[in-house]
Amino acid sequence: MSKNYVIGFPRIGEKRELKKVLEQYWLGEIDFLEVEFVSKELKKRHWAYQKSTKVQYISSNDFSYYDNMLDTTILFGAIPKRFQHLKDEELYFAMARGTKEAVAMQMTKWFNTNYHYIVPELSKQSNFTLNSKKIIQEYKEAKELGITPKINLIGPITYLALSKTVDNSDVFMHINRLVEEYAKLLEEISTLDEEIILQLEEPIFVKDVEPKLLSLLKPTYEKLASISSKVKIAVITYFEHSNEATKILVNTPIWAIGLDFIYGEKNFEVLEEIKTSNKVLIAGIIDGRNIWKSNLRKKVELLEKIATTIDKNNILVSTSCSLLHVPFSLEYETALDKEIKSWLSFAREKLEELKIVSKIFFKEELSLEDKAYIKRNEEDNEKRKNSLKIHNKTVQEELKTLTKLQREEKFEKRIKAQREFFKYENLATTTIGSFPQTAEIRQVRRDFKNNIISKEVYEEKIKEYISDCIAFQESIGLDVLVHGEPERNDMVEYFGELLEGFAFTKNAWVQSYGSRCVKPPLIFGDVSRQKPMSVQWLTFAQSKTSKVVKGMLTGPVTILNWSFVRDDKPRNEVAKQIALAISKEVDDLQNAGIKMIQVDEAAFKEGYPLRKENIKIYEKWAVENFRLSVSSAKIDTQIHTHMCYSEFNDIIKTIEAMDADVISIETARSGNRLLKIFKEVGYKQEVGPGIYDIHSPRVPSVEEMVEQIKALLEVLPKEQLWINPDCGLKTRKWPEVKLSLENLVKAVNIVRNS
Ligand code: GLN
Ligand code: ZN
Repeated sequence: MSKNYVIGFPRIGEKRELKKVLEQYWLGEIDFLEVEFVSKELKKRHWAYQKSTKVQYISSNDFSYYDNMLDTTILFGAIPKRFQHLKDEELYFAMARGTKEAVAMQMTKWFNTNYHYIVPELSKQSNFTLNSKKIIQEYKEAKELGITPKINLIGPITYLALSKTVDNSDVFMHINRLVEEYAKLLEEISTLDEEIILQLEEPIFVKDVEPKLLSLLKPTYEKLASISSKVKIAVITYFEHSNEATKILVNTPIWAIGLDFIYGEKNFEVLEEIKTSNKVLIAGIIDGRNIWKSNLRKKVELLEKIATTIDKNNILVSTSCSLLHVPFSLEYETALDKEIKSWLSFAREKLEELKIVSKIFFKEELSLEDKAYIKRNEEDNEKRKNSLKIHNKTVQEELKTLTKLQREEKFEKRIKAQREFFKYENLATTTIGSFPQTAEIRQVRRDFKNNIISKEVYEEKIKEYISDCIAFQESIGLDVLVHGEPERNDMVEYFGELLEGFAFTKNAWVQSYGSRCVKPPLIFGDVSRQKPMSVQWLTFAQSKTSKVVKGMLTGPVTILNWSFVRDDKPRNEVAKQIALAISKEVDDLQNAGIKMIQVDEAAFKEGYPLRKENIKIYEKWAVENFRLSVSSAKIDTQIHTHMCYSEFNDIIKTIEAMDADVISIETARSGNRLLKIFKEVGYKQEVGPGIYDIHSPRVPSVEEMVEQIKALLEVLPKEQLWINPDCGLKTRKWPEVKLSLENLVKAVNIVRNS
């Protein structure tokens, strides 16, 4: 057995089997037994993969029908009142997805990943009762297959820290009660085997947490580690360093500490403390967040560096986090360029890497096969370094000699020129870009991709959609129109496919939430633009109306944050290449008569680092690259940007520094609350807050939108406000969208005339 450790394995299935069976079950087409059956098969398969690559520490309870946080909520019986009459799978999925009577629990992003968890909902009255069924069952399932697994579980402090309360009470009022239930669980699992490994995940400590949270570590883990000598506790963090916590944990009787040495380099600073404590170090050195083939030699060097402090006998070689955040296997990428494929490593391939790295590090005997594998690894990495596919001298030169990094004129001058040019009224009405993606339009794109229809037919159909879309917007009297984005499957994929340096996979799905998966593009090489990407559609749209058509592009930071990014260049440099490409598109658009252009930065906030110490650096290059991406815009070309729902308070100065002429934000759910910060800081540029929530098919009435606009006007003057819905119209149906937008225009007219 190698001394290697996998924090967790993805569960959706390499053919998204879990997704498919769940969705069928939700539609009422099959019953839950089938979901259970498929799940069992998946667990079995995933365990077998790990066993066959000699993983010593294989997880149980990393499987979930929907989400591990939700599982933990069920485990401890923290069920919100509105679901308490339900049970079993009905209860579980009601909490995740809601029912007719009860809204679903909130969902939010898991740290800086694209995974989303179900937020525990607590109150003063919350009660906890242990329900260990799932954990015990999964353990036994593994045992039956000849595997003695560790048990994965979110730690109590992270669980509470990620909870919310509905009555403003302090989530940590429950810590003692909750730890009691963890203790009961420990007692229960201690009967399962001679020795049990319990992996408690406490990633909250990779953030800058309050001293109060740190002070909970010692009592919590002293207590848990004292329950049974048979249960060995490993406390794991990932995505960043957790030095403050480690310094405390070394003084508790836990067995092991797991740290991320890929995204938390500072973890090196606490090795001395770990050594003194004589604890086992689970060293996360295989990247669980990215998809590039490891350089095995470098991985071993990293381990050797750790081993200069920590005794080798106390080191386990591990993934940096759960492999949940990478796709399953390269096996299905039959259409991918062979060379690019040889640079990649998904979850199954990472298991292989882990095996070999650990063998080399622990000086185990290498088979001929291993040696061939190591040789291939060296060759592939060498070839990648020198590949012509990656390096584009022209782009590199261009970036080096770039002189214009941002727009020349100040906002005050620009907006004057733009107002003169466009002559739009105060409270100008517009939308965020997309219009309903109908089944027909999806089919058209698919058929074109699969060569079922010709380019001519495809273009005809897209133009038809655009014409209808423009005609509709004109008919209801919107001020600024959009083309509706019918040619785009996804706002990043669309541009990625047209840019050099991007590759797309067939099957590299990563779970985003529940049954939903995303398939991020791979940025493997220098990015450049060969030809205009959006001009054809936007000029066509403009030709159909005398009103202003707002062009629609995706910003460099968002493209970066929603892709797997090459690891041989700093992220900011990759973003800069994308920014340059976008700025050329902006120029082509304005020269073709599209003088109002929205550069979406939907994922700007998502890229924020977990640690405050890194935020300034991110903000600096993110802002610089956004500014570069619109640097070509002339004084009277109006640049819009858009951001999805987020707390803007901490980042308002950064948003201002992006210096877009207009920003639209998703804010309807918060009334005018999110807008207040714009006023507080004296934000100059124009703002378009969403005035209705598009996440429901409900059509908002004219009256309620009038109220919403008035509420906005309490915060910002009409001269500074645009009126639009929230983003995401593409997910709605035409009838709702039509009525809602009609009402929106009516509401604005009422307010304008009052
Ligand atoms: N222009 C995009 C749209 O309207 C923006 C998407 C987003 O905000 N995520 O669909
Ligand atoms: Zn948005």
